[in-house]
Amino acid sequence: EKYIYQFGNGMAEGDATQKNLLGGKGANLAEMARLKLPVPAGFTISTQCCTAYFERGGKLPESLHRELEQAMAAMEASMGMKFGDPDNPLLVSSRSGARSSMPGMMETVLNVGLCPSTIPGMIKQTGNEWFVYDAYRRLIMMYSDVVMEKAEGEEPADGMGIRLHLEMLLNDLKNDRAYDADTEITTEEMKALCEKFKVKIKEKLGKPFPDDPMAQLMGSIGAVFKSWNGKRAVSYRRIEHIPDDWGTAVNIQSMVFGNMGESSATGVAFTRDPATGNNKFYGEWLPNAQGEDVVAGIRTPNPLNTDTRSEHNAHLTSLEETMPAIYRELCDIREKLENHYQDMQDIEFTIQQGTLYMLQCRVGKRTGTAALNMAMDMFEEGMIDEPTMITRLYPRQLDEMLHPVVDPEAEKTAPVVVQGLPAGPGGAFGQIVFSSEDAVLWQKKGKKVILVREETNPEDIEGMRAAQGILTARGGMTSHAALVARGWGKCCIVGAGAIQINSMEKTMKVGTRIFKEGDFLTLNGSRGMVYSGAIDMKDATANPRFIKFMAAADKYRAMKVRTNAETPKDAQLALQFGAEGIGLFRTEHMFYGQNSDKPLFLLRKMILSKSLHERESALAQLYPFIKDEVKATMNIMDSKPVNFRLLDPPLHEFVPQKQHHQEALAREIGIDFEELIKRSEELIETNPMMGHRGVRLGISFPEISVMQIRAIFEAAAELIKEGKKPIPEIMIPVTCNEKELIFTKELAQSTLKEVLKKYELNDIAHQFGTMIEIPRAALMSHKMAEHAEFFSFGTNDLTQMTFGFSRDDIGSFMNDYIDNAILDADPFETLDQEAVGSLIEISVEKGRSVRPDIKLGICGEHGGDPASVEFCHKAGLSYVSCSPYRVPVARLAAAQAAI
Ligand code: ADP
Ligand code: MG
Ligand code: MG
Repeated sequence: EKYIYQFGNGMAEGDATQKNLLGGKGANLAEMARLKLPVPAGFTISTQCCTAYFERGGKLPESLHRELEQAMAAMEASMGMKFGDPDNPLLVSSRSGARSSMPGMMETVLNVGLCPSTIPGMIKQTGNEWFVYDAYRRLIMMYSDVVMEKAEGEEPADGMGIRLHLEMLLNDLKNDRAYDADTEITTEEMKALCEKFKVKIKEKLGKPFPDDPMAQLMGSIGAVFKSWNGKRAVSYRRIEHIPDDWGTAVNIQSMVFGNMGESSATGVAFTRDPATGNNKFYGEWLPNAQGEDVVAGIRTPNPLNTDTRSEHNAHLTSLEETMPAIYRELCDIREKLENHYQDMQDIEFTIQQGTLYMLQCRVGKRTGTAALNMAMDMFEEGMIDEPTMITRLYPRQLDEMLHPVVDPEAEKTAPVVVQGLPAGPGGAFGQIVFSSEDAVLWQKKGKKVILVREETNPEDIEGMRAAQGILTARGGMTSHAALVARGWGKCCIVGAGAIQINSMEKTMKVGTRIFKEGDFLTLNGSRGMVYSGAIDMKDATANPRFIKFMAAADKYRAMKVRTNAETPKDAQLALQFGAEGIGLFRTEHMFYGQNSDKPLFLLRKMILSKSLHERESALAQLYPFIKDEVKATMNIMDSKPVNFRLLDPPLHEFVPQKQHHQEALAREIGIDFEELIKRSEELIETNPMMGHRGVRLGISFPEISVMQIRAIFEAAAELIKEGKKPIPEIMIPVTCNEKELIFTKELAQSTLKEVLKKYELNDIAHQFGTMIEIPRAALMSHKMAEHAEFFSFGTNDLTQMTFGFSRDDIGSFMNDYIDNAILDADPFETLDQEAVGSLIEISVEKGRSVRPDIKLGICGEHGGDPASVEFCHKAGLSYVSCSPYRVPVARLAAAQAAI
């Protein structure tokens, strides 16, 4: 088996299509070499080798060694240098790179091959002793951290990693000498520091730093493979639903040096602005530095060009001013790459003594707004076609665009604390915490938090996820953490240099002001402004481009999108978002959160009635409330279908718990208090979600169903008389047997007859159907469809019943299932296509076999989940229904599914 693929000198064995084999980084390095861009020579060890490595319990396959020798020889020949050679030594980097980009989540080791036997040769070749020792220092720091500690799974005894110990030595030196920058350290001091580092490593890790090129190379390859299973890589995969078995590739690449003096530099850039989408070359760079300084977010870098400088970093010099020729070369590369990939690219480059090298390119992560603007610009520029444009915006990014921003009016007078770089858009407020762990802990307690950190470190991934917003003192817009935050649409401000953090005491200081853990801050991530206190948020205003984009997407969609709503207000909102009907009107929901307690009181009275007579009198009182609400909603949805689900939940849910409510009820019904308590105790069930609910209520108490059906038909009749066009659908929940449908349909038909007579109408257009939410109903769909004109898949209950997971109790174990990779995702969030999906497919097929034009839809949370929407499209459903805010998400997901 072939494990190694070479690239460099305008040639490559692989190309951009081979991401699965070579990882994204390897595939794109190969592609850039093919495009004749200046890529330092190297080779990629495939992801298959990673799999083999783990299968063999952490040992490289035998055959790799011979391939490695050949690949090293080829790289050496093309560079005219030799790895480990005392006179003219080649140094390499060992870089991770998975199929889908996981910025900063795995490890990379630079300057591999530097040791006492190669240092003199390096100095001779470069004539720069300082640089060589700076490179050695960096190697020691990275290697001991990544290879000797993390890859060995060592838990530092004192809770302090080796990296921190070495950084303390470095800082002590700088404090001693009153140096601000690493570059002020003298050569002699740097040399001595390296020796100190090695002593510390021996002391802390119990083994010596390997001063041997080959040992370093093999060690770093193994460590990169192992970093696939590192803590942050695993967390990131869980969040992004990336499978565990993909593995990472390793890229061994000749080193080029950005830290060789003032004509050297390193940087990161985006071919268009990843925050706004503006068609402007956007980037950051650092003179005399190695690339990790920018991406790790430990230094706040300079802007790439003059016109993208913000007021915040206007005092820093741009690459455009400092190295105009290189800047122009970079601009040409920008154009070449965009035209080639036809998408925005995120690039990493290094300048070694006036020569530019390309170290990475990939499709750049971007905010929702940027994704929208870029896609539409590229379509208008003729770079991409319309279907491609539509696929460029992830449906979940719409969510982010509709998300709140800091209320601009309130912002005018808000007390400014500090300003930083606007790294992630939108607004957020919350209580400040100073560690990732605390962010997770507080969020679990239901608090909104702002994570405040010294620098943006991918180690903080879980805390970043848990926080409403992120604020850091150091780091740039292109740091890995900023990248990840933007990808999630999370509000994030970095490089707010005026903040001094004391993480021990959990405080931060700005000037003379001190903020403690738990204090409120508000972030405007689009402007980089930080305010004290919690400032009001406002819904994002309608973006005219967004409306145009959605209209374009709608042309491709096969499924309709409806909404779940039970009040005229929600119905109105959903209409604005483009809903084409109501897919689920939950009758019981209209009793919650009403202006008046009256309907809920009457419902309770009805529930606690014992005799038919008592119940009918309660129903009669309840009737006008229900009819009014039903009518108002159908009125707003005029000429669009409204699907009414008859009363569904277990009755006990509505029994009052407070004594004064109970007493009032007893009085109203005309029974004594003890009798009322007795009746409500009789309603208690052991498994209420599988108890006396849904259609079962209507079987026991047909008068309840009749009252609701009458409300729907009379409301429709009145609207017809008013010249409107109501389209009611009556849906029976929790069915498992066609006889339940026959029973209820008879009630509906006799009620309809009475209503028609009363209003002197010939007919009221309507449909009668059922939810499919019990596996038995799915399996019996050929019978159900004889009596149901539509099915609506209630995937919440269907998931619950298929898994046997109580949806109200999964909190206690779902995380363990996800952590142990027993489930890839919570099946209540993302439809389980394997089993729940099979039941839907079976039901669709059986339903259509007896009623070819049966209407099929889905309600429940999954209706707004993009992956589930795609499944519904493939399964041939006619519509999806979801909450109002998710309607645009479902529209876009449905369009993409059809493209
Ligand atoms: P990540 O996936 O975390 O971005 P990379 O493998 O891209 O890690 O490495 C991080 C940084 O190290 C790069 O941005 C680049 O600047 C620097 N780097 C990697 N390989 C080389 C090399 N061969 N020469 C010079 N710099 C390198
Ligand atoms: Mg990189
Ligand atoms: Mg249900």
